[in-house]
Amino acid sequence: MSDEVKDITSLLASPTKEDVALVEKAFQYAREHHEGQKRYGGTDHIDHLTATARILADLGMGPTTIAAGLLHDVVEDTPVTEEKLKEDFGEEIAFLVDGVTKLGQVAYSGARRHRESLRKFFIASSKDIRVLMIKLCDRLHNMLELKHCPEEQRLRVAKETLDIYAPVAYRLGIRHLSRQLEDLAFPFVYPKEYEQIAGILKSYQKRGDKYLNNFKRSLHKQLAKQYPKLQVFVDYRVKGTYSFWKKLERKKGDIDKVYDIFAVRVITENVEDCYLILGVVHNIWQPLPQRVKDYISSPKPDGYQSIHTTIFAGDGSIIEVQIKTRDMHNKAEYGIMSHVSHKKKLQLNRPSPNFIWLGNLIPFRRSKQRIDDHSNTPHWIKELVEYQESIPEDADFLKDLKKDFFEERIFVFTPKGDAVDLPIDSTPIDFAFNVHTDLGIHISEAKVNGKLVALDTKLQNGDIVEIKTSEKQTAKRKWLDIVKTTSARRRIQALLSPKKVRR
Ligand code: MN
Repeated sequence: MSDEVKDITSLLASPTKEDVALVEKAFQYAREHHEGQKRYGGTDHIDHLTATARILADLGMGPTTIAAGLLHDVVEDTPVTEEKLKEDFGEEIAFLVDGVTKLGQVAYSGARRHRESLRKFFIASSKDIRVLMIKLCDRLHNMLELKHCPEEQRLRVAKETLDIYAPVAYRLGIRHLSRQLEDLAFPFVYPKEYEQIAGILKSYQKRGDKYLNNFKRSLHKQLAKQYPKLQVFVDYRVKGTYSFWKKLERKKGDIDKVYDIFAVRVITENVEDCYLILGVVHNIWQPLPQRVKDYISSPKPDGYQSIHTTIFAGDGSIIEVQIKTRDMHNKAEYGIMSHVSHKKKLQLNRPSPNFIWLGNLIPFRRSKQRIDDHSNTPHWIKELVEYQESIPEDADFLKDLKKDFFEERIFVFTPKGDAVDLPIDSTPIDFAFNVHTDLGIHISEAKVNGKLVALDTKLQNGDIVEIKTSEKQTAKRKWLDIVKTTSARRRIQALLSPKKVRR
């Protein structure tokens, strides 16, 4: 067995001989067919494939998905056809690979090819979510090597990562992945803003260990006195560059209003302990008034649970403290993947000093289960639901997953091929406001897929939307009944309200 395969299969929960043989076969096959192909950075293409497979394994995917991960470029970049792959690996793997394979250059070109490929990929993902997982892991590794890409591709890939893949990972609840995709893309899309943000965060990172040690020492001392049996795991995280920037924008650049740049996380076993720890923390440090948020008793709309409090750390600094159970933490970081087995930490090399790899903060509870590989999405989700008997409320989360993700959102495109992510039933007006406020205000006509349509037309997944504007046009009251997005509604209301006052 090759070292690469040994490394990948060591992450599987309880691999059978057949599992290992399948991964080995896929690895040898990929190596043979991609022979001589190099990446932009000069490494062999097979390294990209093993990296993708490794990330998949780390997220708890099974051997079929891992094999498909190794083969994901074989149809696109080598003479191997889909039929041949079907012969050699069977229908299931061929389907997964086809889902992430771009459409041929012959039938489509340029932006159209890209758009149609994306559309095909979404359809395949809605049939089998493993297609999506392969693509996300492929993208993560591509982002890690993006600096080697030709300049003209770089921006496009980074922008697409911010617009589509990071939000998609977030919606699957895999924040861990979403945050990395964002932080890898951010410097390419907004270089100036990134520089500024990274500078601020660096100083927090420098102080991080010192803060943490002081915090830990005081907390442990007090816990030993009051609750000697209580087990806690304490760590910290510095906010991701992209999410920090987003938050700073929301706070109109006032950094003093961003309290969670640096957050200490206290992780424990059960909910009662979370409240005990909150009491202990408030005993040691003065909390900021009105900053205690109990997301355990009232979770955030996306299911996030934790207790947040903000304290004066004593040296003039302010620290956010998050207290949660291990299950809450794992669910927040790994979403749908949080209950499958994880044996090891992901050991990707840190590509740059700016790359914040948070790793698995705490060991996953080991289970023998892993994702059933012989299933399509609904079955797969059902299996996952069954895994979670210990936490019944998770069942709803998973049941809603597909609905939220594939049925409640659509992706439409600008004529240039840029993707815009909108809620279902959005109209050309929502689209226009999403692209630019001016475009929304002055929208006079809309074309969908080249045809003139009414402004209240409901957009469909994959539509290409073209907006015509007229200076004379301005927001109309009846648009409030048409639009679906709150951002468009708010802007229209703002434009209309001065008139209301005058009347
Ligand atoms: Mn690839």
